[in-house]
Order: sequence, then structure tokens, then C-alpha cells
Amino acid sequence: MFQTTAELRSAFLKYFEDNGHQVEDSSSLVPANDPTLLFTNAGMNQFKDVFLGMDKRSYTRATTSQRCVRAGGKHNDLDNVGYTARHHTFFEMLGNFSFGDYFKEEAIRFAWEFLTVTLKLPTERLCVTIYETDDEAFEIWNKKIGVAAENIIRIGDNKGAAFASDNFWQMGDTGPCGPCTEVFYDHGDHIWGGRPGTPEEDGDRFIEIWNIVFMQYNRQADGEMQPLPKPSVDTGMGIERIAAIMQGVHSNYEIDIFKTLIAKTAEIIGVTDLENKSLRVIADHIRSCAFLIADGVMPSNEGRGYVLRRIIRRAVRHGNKLGANQSFFYKLVPTLISVMGDAAKELGQMQAIVEKALKAEEEQFARTLERGLQILDSALNELTTKTLDGETAFKLYDTYGFPVDLTADVCRERDIQVDEAGFEAAMAQQRKRAQAAGNFGADYNSNLIIDTETAFCGYAELAGSATVKALYLD
Ligand code: ATP
Ligand code: MG
Ligand code: MG
Ligand code: MG
Repeated sequence: MFQTTAELRSAFLKYFEDNGHQVEDSSSLVPANDPTLLFTNAGMNQFKDVFLGMDKRSYTRATTSQRCVRAGGKHNDLDNVGYTARHHTFFEMLGNFSFGDYFKEEAIRFAWEFLTVTLKLPTERLCVTIYETDDEAFEIWNKKIGVAAENIIRIGDNKGAAFASDNFWQMGDTGPCGPCTEVFYDHGDHIWGGRPGTPEEDGDRFIEIWNIVFMQYNRQADGEMQPLPKPSVDTGMGIERIAAIMQGVHSNYEIDIFKTLIAKTAEIIGVTDLENKSLRVIADHIRSCAFLIADGVMPSNEGRGYVLRRIIRRAVRHGNKLGANQSFFYKLVPTLISVMGDAAKELGQMQAIVEKALKAEEEQFARTLERGLQILDSALNELTTKTLDGETAFKLYDTYGFPVDLTADVCRERDIQVDEAGFEAAMAQQRKRAQAAGNFGADYNSNLIIDTETAFCGYAELAGSATVKALYLD
């Protein structure tokens, strides 16, 4: 039986290799030559130009286990971490691809055979969704595969609708896209949630495991859908989700990789309650942060580097919440490398750099974290509404290095929101003041308050406009 995450990774690649697919390495988390994309968010990214007909390969079928980060841009799961059983900022996407080779029928057959024959998943636990008008996909599932009509759910592209699922997949606002069909696994009625297409679908009972996209169009900036040169296939299955099923657990955070990471985090910080949500968040965040650094991103105040900084600081704040009294985050790297096995080749080579960068960022933030949290705590205690004012969020950002989403993360634990418009207004005002002061140019942080109590010296490199831009990358 294929049970461990490592076994599943190789079983998947082998199955598709046996079916004529070229096994390719994962590409970097930093997309090559693609300014439309913040981080690699799906297996198809490295093949984007092949789908568009602008790049040719020596093969027409490929398979990969692709590292992905969804912490910004079109697909952003950062705020789901700690709240759902199935979302990570970093995950591995198993995928098979056809570049003008097979299309709907074979793609569906491969997926079904892998799940029900190779992995022996019970068919009665599975249901599928199709794009609402895709009668061809319906016929294949129903007549050729034998899935009962009531287990084939038609879903639209749901722009603005109340339901979360979406059977028209797109990588970003532009680029290859098309209708898709997805496979869901029912974890059982002891878990809250409804079938896809129902108002309760956002629960974690029916978990989406595999998305099979029929790549047919190239979406232009003006929304026009140009047909691709050849209809193709792009699929993606989160390895952690299928590992959860194979290991007989409900949450991704209970699989082998996370069990080990969570135990190590608890040991380093000295926590005994392994169910603590903050442990899950830290175990999630160490994966995205370490792999991003290994792929060349460094904490900074703009673009990708600022997203990384935000994730590290969120993790450090959760460590503080658990009572960590010294740097802990970088100490997880060796355990991470060992649990990730084959997927950690590059990370292993970059270990020293990754640890150093994480430690430096953690130490820098530690200088202001405690004091910032005290200020936030008293502001929250004094609140009479459910919204924290933008001025306070801005002070925390500007003086204590709290990214606004970190402040929001703390507030959310107390069911409070941050006035983000007020935060933006405070930021704009600060910039105006800095400009008026003249001497210091347009860098509003020339007004940075030096907090003597914590000996915080400010961010030498903090450039206001770049930071503002980074904040809105999402
Ligand atoms: P969900 O609806 O659960 O958010 P999705 O529809 O956004 O998932 P896709 O874009 O279709 O996901 O990605 C393909 C597959 O990758 C999913 O079916 C799932 O198995 C996996 N996946 C997607 N997002 C995540 C994530 N944040 N963490 C772990 N696995 C994920
Ligand atoms: Mg999603
Ligand atoms: Mg989905
Ligand atoms: Mg999906």
C-alpha cells in the first residue's frame, strides 16, 4: 500500500510514467520569466508556454510533483491556514499534463484508475463536479466510467456567487484556462460540510482532491478567450490531501510530514498540547518560508520578499503566543529537510543560507514584537466596537514592523477586524508629511519613531512606496 507521503509521490509519478509521461522535476517557486505570477501556484506554470504553443518539448505527456505557494496573487490561502483542514501556504501538487495529446476521456480515465485501482479508494466515497455546460464530461463520467448521475455535480464559473467551488480554472487574470472536472472525497458525516454546490460546501467534509483542467483558451487582458492551438490537459492533486486519505486521517495537518514538524516545534518551544492551532500555523509557515528562501527569495520590503517577510513574522508571532522565549523558527529546517525527502533536494543544498536568513529575520522582529503586542493588546482591550482603527494598525506597522495582515491575524483570534481603509489613509498621510518635510525626499519612513524602550532602530531599507505596492499584491 502507498501510504507515506514519499510513497505516494513516487507511486503517482510511476503510474504516469508507465502511461507514457515524461517525469520532470519541480520548477522553482519563483516563476521563470513570468511577471504575471507572484509565486508558482500550480504544476502547469512551468508548462505555460507549451500550452500556449510558444514552446516545444520533445514529449507530449509530462508528470511532476510541483512545489507551490499560495500566499498572494490570484490564489491566496494564507488566511485559511489554521482555519481549514486542507489549506497550506506551501504544498506539493501532483500533476499530469497533455500537450495536444490526450484530452477529456483519457484524462478522466487516468485519474479514476489511479485513485480507485492503484490507491484502491472506495468509489462510494467519491463524487465529481463538472463545468455546468460540459455534457461531454458528464457522458464520460457517467457512461464510460460508471459514476452515478447523482454523484456528478454541475458547477458554473460562479463569478460573485455564494459558493466557493469554481469549475472554470485559470492560473491568473491572463493565460491558459478552461473548464475543469474535480474529484471530491467524503471524509464522513461526523465532519461538518456539504457536497460541492451546496451552501455548506466550505466545510471540510467533502474535500477536493484532484482538479482536471481541460485547457482550451488563452485569456487576454481584455477578457477575450482565444482558443489554444491544441486542446490540452492540466491536472493537479495536492499530495497532502491524498496523503491524509491514505493515512486514514481527516486533516492534512495530521499526516506524517506535519506530525513530525508539529512534534519538533512543540519540543523546541516547550509546548505539550499538540492540538494547538499555532503549532499548525508554524509547521505550515516553515515550509513556505524555507522553500522560498531556497528558491532565492529574501525577506525584504517589497514584492515577493515582503510576502516572505509577512509569513515569517506571522510564524514568529505564533511562536510568541506559544511562549517561545528565544529564536525557534530556523531550528525547524533540519527536520523539514528530512521529512520532505526527495522534494527537499535544493533545500538541502541551501540549508545554511536558509537557516541564517530565517534567524536574522526572527531576531530583527523579536526586538519589537513584544512591545507591539502589548500596544495591540491594550488597544483591543479598550475597543468598544468590533473594528481596530487604522491609526493603531499603522503605528504597529510603521514603528513595530507589524505587517497589517499580522495585526489582522491577531485581531481575528478575538473576532475583531482591522479598518484597512483607515490604515491606508494613515499611510498616505504619513507619506504626505514626509514629502512636506522635504529634506528626506519621498520616503515617509524618515518619520520613523525610534522606540528607545526596545532599542528598535528602524528599517534602514524601508521604502514606503514599495511597501505600499507589496501590500496590494494580493
Ligand atoms: P480549494 O477549493 O480546496 O481551495 P482549489 O480549487 O483552490 O482548492 P486548485 O486550484 O484546483 O485548488 O488546485 C488543484 C489541487 O491542489 C486541489 O484540488 C488540491 O488538491 C490542491 N490544493 C489547492 N490549494 C491547496 C492548498 N492551499 N493547500 C494544499 N493543497 C491545495
Ligand atoms: Mg483554493
Ligand atoms: Mg476548489
Ligand atoms: Mg479546484
